[in-house]
Amino acid sequence: MTDTLSFSDSHCHLDFDTFSADLPHLLKQCQQANIHHIVIPSIGPKNWHKTLTLAKNYSSEALTLHPCLGIHPWFLNDLNADSLTILEHLVKTHHHDIVAIGEAGIDGVIAQTQNNLAQQVQVFEQQLTLAKSYHLPIIVHHRKSHQHIVAMLRQKQLTQGGIIHAFSGSYQQACQYIDLGFKLGISGTITYPRAEKTIKAVKRLPLASLVLETDAPSMPLYGFQGQDNSPLQLIKVFQALVSIRNESSSELAHALESNINAVLAFTKT
Ligand SMILES: [Zn+2]
Repeated sequence: MTDTLSFSDSHCHLDFDTFSADLPHLLKQCQQANIHHIVIPSIGPKNWHKTLTLAKNYSSEALTLHPCLGIHPWFLNDLNADSLTILEHLVKTHHHDIVAIGEAGIDGVIAQTQNNLAQQVQVFEQQLTLAKSYHLPIIVHHRKSHQHIVAMLRQKQLTQGGIIHAFSGSYQQACQYIDLGFKLGISGTITYPRAEKTIKAVKRLPLASLVLETDAPSMPLYGFQGQDNSPLQLIKVFQALVSIRNESSSELAHALESNINAVLAFTKT
């Protein structure tokens, strides 16, 4: 091998209890797999501090952990009247430490079962405003909600863009996000033969729009259903992408690294 490829996981919930038993060992394995950056989105008040502390304590020169601050649409019941004020205060204090607002967004399935679309829209809107005020990108959760999200992003006109986490959808839907300055998070979804529409879209999309992610411990890859996902699976997501795309492994890996740097600015300091 003449060229060592380098990888970044743009979405991994490393602070979750699943990983706490043996985090140093897992991070060592990530380094050995040439994963040098991991982005840790937060989900709400209960893990804001944990995410910030974990990123600070476990980052090394070989593997940097990048925290984000935000409110995931699944956890709106954890909020109280002060939560957004606290979030804003934390973002203000830590805006040099974090790489993005997130994860934030709209989940159409939850909106239906919990009848809370209006609240989801409101909390997402507030986080878009926060991203705009602090010139931060935003990491967006979507599920059966492209229409709402695209409309809100169009209205907000963020200058920093962000990442559409675990993109699934059509080529046309992907292009709407790209036009708004967003990258698309390519996850284990593309390892599932049934994800035909997403695979077809990912095949055709501009190389500059793609970033890799695992969403670990969620979203196990095809063949690993029922198990906790791991950031180490990033390499398998990459291999699946290589098999879908026309570029060489090396060209693809270099582009993915430069794409994530373009949006999350790992090298800003
Ligand atoms: Zn997530």
